[in-house]
Amino acid sequence: MATTLSTKTYDYIIAGAGCAGLSLLYRILLEPELCSKEILIIDREKKSNDDITWCFWEKSPDIFEPTVYHQWDILDFKSQFFNNELDISPYTYKMIRGLDFYNFVYQFATACPNVHFMQSKICSMQVTGDQVEVATSDGTYKAAYAFNSTRLFQPGTQADQHSLYMHFKGLTIRTEAPVFNHGKGTLMDFNVNQHDGMAFMYMLPTSPNEALLEYTVINGAVLNPGAYDEALQTYINEALHLSQVKIVREESGIIPMTKKKFPVHHKQRIIHIGTAGGCVKASSGYAFQFIQRQTAKIVMNLKQNRKPIVKCSFRDKKFNLYDNAFLEVLISGKMRGDELMSRIFKYNSGGTVLAFLDNESSFTDEFNMMTTLPANIFLPVTLKEFFRKAS
Ligand SMILES: Cc1cc2nc3c(=O)[nH]c(=O)nc-3n(C[C@H](O)[C@H](O)[C@H](O)COP(=O)(O)OP(=O)(O)OC[C@H]3O[C@@H](n4cnc5c(N)ncnc54)[C@H](O)[C@@H]3O)c2cc1C
Repeated sequence: MATTLSTKTYDYIIAGAGCAGLSLLYRILLEPELCSKEILIIDREKKSNDDITWCFWEKSPDIFEPTVYHQWDILDFKSQFFNNELDISPYTYKMIRGLDFYNFVYQFATACPNVHFMQSKICSMQVTGDQVEVATSDGTYKAAYAFNSTRLFQPGTQADQHSLYMHFKGLTIRTEAPVFNHGKGTLMDFNVNQHDGMAFMYMLPTSPNEALLEYTVINGAVLNPGAYDEALQTYINEALHLSQVKIVREESGIIPMTKKKFPVHHKQRIIHIGTAGGCVKASSGYAFQFIQRQTAKIVMNLKQNRKPIVKCSFRDKKFNLYDNAFLEVLISGKMRGDELMSRIFKYNSGGTVLAFLDNESSFTDEFNMMTTLPANIFLPVTLKEFFRKAS
C-alpha cells in the first residue's frame, strides 16, 4: 500500500462520487462564492456504466432537470384490494438515468481546474486538529472538510428487528411493436406472488417500445437470483401479454430500510451524505430528493461560512417517527404490505401520498392519512416507536 502524504491541503474532499457526492459537487460549483474552492473527489470506480436509475417526484424543476430522461403525471396503483389511476398533481414523477447524471456533472466539473478526480479505494478517514486525513490505496490526502458517502462510518443495516431490505431487479425491455402507453407509469402492481414478503412490480414506459420493469421485494432476506428473473418473466408473459421482448439493460439493488440512526458527522469535519448520511427514507427506500435537500443545505451553510452540518429539525423527527411506525408494522407482520399500501392510496389522493412520502405533507393531511389506517395496529406501534426513540 502506498503511503504518500500529499502536501496539498484541499478545501473539500468528496469521498464517493455517486448520487450524493456528485450532487454536492455540482451544487458547490454552481455557487460563485464556492466554485473556486480546491476540491478532490475520490471514488474506487469510474462511473461509466448505466448501472442505476433514479426516480423521484417534484413540483417544479430543479438543477438536474437537464438530465431527466422521462416524466409522468399519472401513475397506476394495482392490487387485489384496490386499482386506480393516481392523479399525482401537483407533482410530476421523473426518471434520471445514472450515466446521464454522471456525465452531466463530469462534463461541468472537468472545465474547473480546481476540481480533481481520483480513482482509488478509501481505506479510512480521521480528524487531526482542524483537518481531515483521508487514507486511500494511493496515498493520504488532507482537507478542511470531507464529505463522506462511503460506508466507512455507517451502522450495520442487516435485516433484524429494526431493519428490512428493499431488494429488486430491473430490466429495460424493448418491443418491436409499439405496445406501451408512455404517458402513464405503474407505481406499484401488487398482483404478484406475496409469499416472499411485500412484493410488487414497478413499470415505467419511456416510449411506445421501451419500459423499465422492476420486481421489488421488501422483507428480511434477498432472494436467489433466479427468483427475480422468474417473477419478471411471468409478469412480461402473463400481465403484459408479451411473448417477445429484448432486454437492453439490467439493474439490481439492495436498499436498507432501517430504524437505526445514522451519524450526521464525525468530529464536525467528516460530514456524512447520501445513504451514509441517513438519506434513505426508512419506509419507502427513496433517497434521491432527500439527497438533493441535504446537499443543498450543506452548500447553503458553506456559503454562509457556517459548519456544513445539517441539523435534524422537528419536522425530520416527526417523519422519522411515521417511518419507524410504518416499518415496525411491516417488520412485525401486523398488517400485509399490499393491504396497507392499498388503504393508503384508496383513501388519499396520489398527490397527498407523494407529499407524505417526501416529508412535505401538512399536519392535516397526515392526520387524515392516519385515520385511514387501522388504529388498533398503528396507535400502539407509533407509541412504542415514540418511546423507543425517546429512551
Ligand atoms: C439500483 C438502485 C436503484 C435506486 N433507485 C432509486 C430511485 O429510483 N429513487 C430514489 O430516490 N432512490 C433510489 N435508490 C436509492 C438511492 O437513491 C441510491 O442508492 C443513491 O445512489 C444513493 O446515493 P449515495 O451517493 O449515497 O450512494 P452511491 O450512489 O452508491 O455512491 C457512493 C459512492 O461511494 C463509492 N465508494 C464506496 N465505498 C468506497 C471506498 N471505500 N472507496 C472509494 N469509493 C467508495 C462508490 O463506488 C459509490 O460511487 C436506488 C438504489 C439502488 C441501489
